[in-house]
Amino acid sequence: MSATPHQFRIGLATSRTHQDAPNSVLARLLNGSRIAIEQHLQPQLIVVGRTLDAMDHLGLLKNYPHIERFPYGRHGGLMKLVSRVVDTDPARRLDAVMYLMDPVDPSSIFPEAVALKRQCVIHGKPFLSTLAGAREWLELESIAIGAAPNPELDETFDLKNEGIAMIAHDAMKGRMLEIAERHFDLLDQFGFRCATGTTGSLLNKLAQKIKGEEAGRNWVKPYLSGPMGGDAQIAELILDRDQCRRVLFLEDPHVARQHEADIQLLERAARTVTDYALCISNENCGERWLDLLQKRVALRAA
Ligand code: PGA
Repeated sequence: MSATPHQFRIGLATSRTHQDAPNSVLARLLNGSRIAIEQHLQPQLIVVGRTLDAMDHLGLLKNYPHIERFPYGRHGGLMKLVSRVVDTDPARRLDAVMYLMDPVDPSSIFPEAVALKRQCVIHGKPFLSTLAGAREWLELESIAIGAAPNPELDETFDLKNEGIAMIAHDAMKGRMLEIAERHFDLLDQFGFRCATGTTGSLLNKLAQKIKGEEAGRNWVKPYLSGPMGGDAQIAELILDRDQCRRVLFLEDPHVARQHEADIQLLERAARTVTDYALCISNENCGERWLDLLQKRVALRAA
């Protein structure tokens, strides 16, 4: 390994239905990414009560030394995670949150769950709410410190068979274009690209500039504009596990959004197929994700 890992502090919580069974989503995360956790990244895990009980009960990450217990959800464990996301004290702040949510569990829409995501977006930190998202993040951050790729995930980095959805709220459309321009070659390798209406037409204009008018015209498939239902159309692609597992969604958390329900619907769709789909919700994470994805794809090709 080429560098001493920066020790990430990661908040970890799961919905009840994702906890207790031997093949629960929690078990699949911690068993599937065990080497990334125990050997490569060795993060400090701040684990909410019942999730840690399930880990003990299932023997997950047994003897792993860097675990801190947080209170049960009903005693404010998730609320405390929100406070740690915004904290700047290095001994307290979280670098990332993994909250593997079951969208049919009512706690997935509790204010603390919504605030946890929102503060991660505002503070530019990863909010990983699906199994696929958490596993990909651990894999890519392991690659960042020079670890060998996990062959189990290889197939998901074969971009010609992968799709990506790109969505940007109005204040973020300029950033989306900058990000897409900087990572154009990588995005161009995806077998399928789609977007909500206005974002899509801007991206196709960019592609025309880069690839020429004819070749760039249909670079992304534009669905309806977000407020007119485009998020729901992309959600259906995700639910059908059809062409598109990754969503880059540059959200503007500072304005009231008239189509909030549609935005939530799209994320909840990803959580419905938690082993398949992932959402990246802010520009910081989007940039880093694409940089590391590029490295991972190159390792696969090597
Ligand atoms: P748009 O939709 O790309 O059509 O603007 C994005 C949104 O506002 O959800």
